[in-house]
Amino acid sequence: MAKVLVVAEIKQGVLKSSTPELLSKARAIGASTAVVAIGSNIESLVPELAGAGSDTQYIADDPGLELFSAGPVAACVVDAARQFGASLIWFGFSESSKAVAPRVAAQLDAACATEINDISLNGDQIEVIRPAITNKVMQRVKVNTEKLVAVVRAGAFEATEGISGTENVVKLSPPEMDLKALVREILTDASGEIDLADADIVVSVGRGAKDQAGIDLVRGLADDLHAGFGSSRAMVDGGFMAHNKQVGQTGKIVAPTLYMAIGISGAIQHLAGMSGSKVILAVNKDPEAPIFNVADYGIVGDLFEVVPILQEEIRKIKAKQ
Ligand SMILES: Cc1cc2nc3c(=O)[nH]c(=O)nc-3n(C[C@H](O)[C@H](O)[C@H](O)COP(=O)(O)OP(=O)(O)OC[C@H]3O[C@@H](n4cnc5c(N)ncnc54)[C@H](O)[C@@H]3O)c2cc1C
Repeated sequence: MAKVLVVAEIKQGVLKSSTPELLSKARAIGASTAVVAIGSNIESLVPELAGAGSDTQYIADDPGLELFSAGPVAACVVDAARQFGASLIWFGFSESSKAVAPRVAAQLDAACATEINDISLNGDQIEVIRPAITNKVMQRVKVNTEKLVAVVRAGAFEATEGISGTENVVKLSPPEMDLKALVREILTDASGEIDLADADIVVSVGRGAKDQAGIDLVRGLADDLHAGFGSSRAMVDGGFMAHNKQVGQTGKIVAPTLYMAIGISGAIQHLAGMSGSKVILAVNKDPEAPIFNVADYGIVGDLFEVVPILQEEIRKIKAKQ
């Protein structure tokens, strides 16, 4: 039986949705499941980790692990993978996963595949599906090693309701601290805005908004919906939006329940960052804009007229609640 080790994604003490999603997928392919959780003061998460579908919880809980550092985190994952005998080690998509996964693969002599959309097992044969050439094609890749380290795209798998594992805690010894690179401090976005990666709804603004007044209008819509506020690269290159707001191939990859593209043409590089969203709504005055090819709902119109109407309707709905 395949053994899947899921690397828990924990942010400020909170378990992120990728962990139950990956554990659900592992159970769906009939694998035995374990999770490795790494950080400081995280033991209280054990019931939640078991409830999410893991049957063994490897816990590396140490004050030295409070700040993320790729070397020590990789050492913990390798330790857990060896103890569990994992053939598959799965990470959710994040910048830190991308830093840790190759280190783990090198130490375990495993293949490493990123941006995974799907994983299947045919006996011992592992296959993955991943996009290539900026999402123009999907590759089916046969993995020729016994072990695979995979970084899975946001929203690729869904958490199954009602599954549950068992509590079986294995404490890991704290790893040696990474002397080649030591993280001293993590500076987070102090704007107080919702992180795009965490947002259930993302509203993104494009060049169609023209200037700061247009951006503020679209930001108002995001605020009304308690949504993350993102952007196309055109608005970042134009100096209107910060790079951490850029969605796309060279920005963030998001997969919210609802993605609203306002005044965005839908260039292939933008689609690479948001086409995995569950529902896509686009507002564009050009009926031929490529964004409409991926949109579930399209509004052809001037955003300066459409956005205030959307806001008014949202306020009416809220007033009734
Ligand atoms: C290597 C590389 C990497 C890239 N990475 C990214 C990336 O990560 N993310 C990204 O977004 N882009 C990326 N790009 C840039 C990408 O190719 C596009 O140039 C960019 O996405 C265009 O942004 P936009 O849709 O806002 O602007 P435009 O393409 O100029 O589109 C503006 C849209 O607004 C509409 N519009 C205009 N006025 C209104 C109005 N009043 N009301 C409603 N609609 C209106 C227009 O019809 C048009 O469709 C990358 C490019 C390269 C070469």
